[in-house]
Amino acid sequence: MRVGICPGSFDPVTNGHVDIFERASKLVDKLIVAVLDNPNKKPLFTMEERVELIRKSVGHIPNVEVDGASGGLLYKYANSKNSRIIIRGLRALSDFEYEFQRALLLKKIDNDLETVFIMTNAKYSFVSSSGVRELATFGGQLKDLVPECIEERVRKHVYKKFE
Ligand code: ADP
Repeated sequence: MRVGICPGSFDPVTNGHVDIFERASKLVDKLIVAVLDNPNKKPLFTMEERVELIRKSVGHIPNVEVDGASGGLLYKYANSKNSRIIIRGLRALSDFEYEFQRALLLKKIDNDLETVFIMTNAKYSFVSSSGVRELATFGGQLKDLVPECIEERVRKHVYKKFE
C-alpha cells in the first residue's frame, strides 16, 4: 500500500491545505495528514485543536487519516507509518527556499524518503495560516479562506485570545 504523508503545523488548516490534501489523496492509497510542532513557530491552536479542525475539514476525502505527531522527527514518523512519500504544497517563490532546504535535509537524513511538491491552486495562492490568524485577530471574516464548517470556530477562538 502506498502511504503518503502531508506534514505541517496547520495553525489553523486553510482551504489551501485542504486543496492539497484532496489532490494528494488521489496519488496514494492512504494519505496521513500529520500535525507537527514546528520549533520555529509557537502555535495558537493546541495540537488537539488543530487535529480536530482538520478532521472536520476532510470528512469528504475517503482515504485520509489525521494524526498528531508531537515531538517526533519526520523521518522517524514516516518510517513508523511505512511511508516513503512526503507531500508538501508550494505557493510562491518565497516558499521554495525553505522547502528546498527541508527536502534536501530530509534526503540527507533518510535517502529513501522522497519529498513531492504539489503546486498551489491559483485561487488559494495567497492563503496562509498566518494571514488567517491576523485577519481573525481583528475580527475579520474568514469566508473562502478556511473550510466553511470551521470558519466560526476559528474566528471566535482567535478573536477571544486577543480580546
Ligand atoms: P509548516 O509550518 O510545516 O511550514 P504549514 O502548516 O504552514 O506548515 O504548511 C504546510 C504545507 O502546506 C507547506 O508545504 C506549505 O507550503 C503548504 N501550504 C500552505 N498554504 C498553502 C496554500 N495556500 N496552497 C498550497 N500549499 C500551501
